[in-house]
Amino acid sequence: MKAKDVQYFKELLLKQRSEILNKTDSIKGEAPIESTGQGDEGDLAVSELTLSITLRLQERQTHLLQKIDRALGKIEEGSFGLCEQCEEALAINRLKARPVATLCIACKEEQESREKVFA
Ligand SMILES: [Zn+2]
Repeated sequence: MKAKDVQYFKELLLKQRSEILNKTDSIKGEAPIESTGQGDEGDLAVSELTLSITLRLQERQTHLLQKIDRALGKIEEGSFGLCEQCEEALAINRLKARPVATLCIACKEEQESREKVFA
C-alpha cells in the first residue's frame, strides 16, 4: 500500500476513534448515575431501560474501538490492509467502506459460511 493511502486510513481511523470517544462521553453524561430512591415505578422502569440501552451501546462502541486500535497498530507495523488469513492486499474500496476490515472478501465469505455451518 502507498504511504499516501496509509496516511489516509490512519487519519480516517483516528477520526472514527475520536468520534466514538466523544459519543461515549456524552452517553455517560446522560446515564443516570444512581437511583435517587424517589419517583414511582414508572420512572424506575424508564431509567432501567435507558441504562440497559446505554450499556449495550457502550459495549458496541468498545468493541469497535478495539478494532480501530488494532487497525492503527497494524498501520504502525506496516501490515495494514493485508488479509489476516491469506495475506493478500485488501481492496482499497473495501477498506474505505470499512477501514477495520481484517479479511479479504474471499476469506470473509469463507468465514461466514463456516460460521453458518457451526451456528
Ligand atoms: Zn484473504
